[in-house]
Amino acid sequence: MIDSHCHLDFPAFDHDRAAVIARSQALGVRKMIVAGISQQHWPRLWNTVEANAGLYAAFGLHPYFLAEHQNQDLQALREYLTRYQDHPKLCAVGEIGLDFFLTDLDRQRQIYLFEQQLELAADFNLPVIIHSRRANAQVTACLKQAQLPRAGIIHAFSGSYEEALEYIKLGFLLGFGGAATWPRATRLQGVLKRLPLEHIVLETDSPDMPPAWFAAGQRNSPEQLPKICQHLAEVVEIPWQTLATTTSNNLQRLFAW
Ligand code: ZN
Repeated sequence: MIDSHCHLDFPAFDHDRAAVIARSQALGVRKMIVAGISQQHWPRLWNTVEANAGLYAAFGLHPYFLAEHQNQDLQALREYLTRYQDHPKLCAVGEIGLDFFLTDLDRQRQIYLFEQQLELAADFNLPVIIHSRRANAQVTACLKQAQLPRAGIIHAFSGSYEEALEYIKLGFLLGFGGAATWPRATRLQGVLKRLPLEHIVLETDSPDMPPAWFAAGQRNSPEQLPKICQHLAEVVEIPWQTLATTTSNNLQRLFAW
């Protein structure tokens, strides 16, 4: 299995990061993609990824942290991508996107930073890892405009079946994790069931997005991915091994691993 989205560089893992990674790998989670959030934290992310086999990095400016981003961070991102463009551990630009759920985040500013980062992904021939909350129509419009050479992943997909199809038409993979394991997530599970397996990937978004069997506030980790895979396989009504293999193949195709 591959955890297509986590934040193992966060301080929540400072006291036991190596042990968490070792336990995850022992459970069959062979690769983990660590998504960037802001320029200030890219060094921390790179150190984490470089120090641990099986970890891969995405650099980007996350829309949730809009207040931290400066225009010069786009230039810094170009420099990071230039520096590591031939490094096998750099796998994507992310996490980038639009968050229209939080109404105090300036939408025009978000769209500007998103479009600029999509251009960078195209310039460096990299896939993108996208955060989209209540913004699927606008994200889709930006992606159509950008015409990326390698598409990417819509992380923690939570839209409608029709929105999913729009992303799939653009060649994107859709990430599913703990949110889809909750018994009340029937709408999301209904969407997941109808999607072609070749466009689904697994993720934890750890330390966030607790699965259904977690207490509120409990730290999520890539160790939960096998159980998430089992739960989602039950939703889709296929053997968990099929879901594990197919989702890993989908990512290996995207990242040319
Ligand atoms: Zn994330």
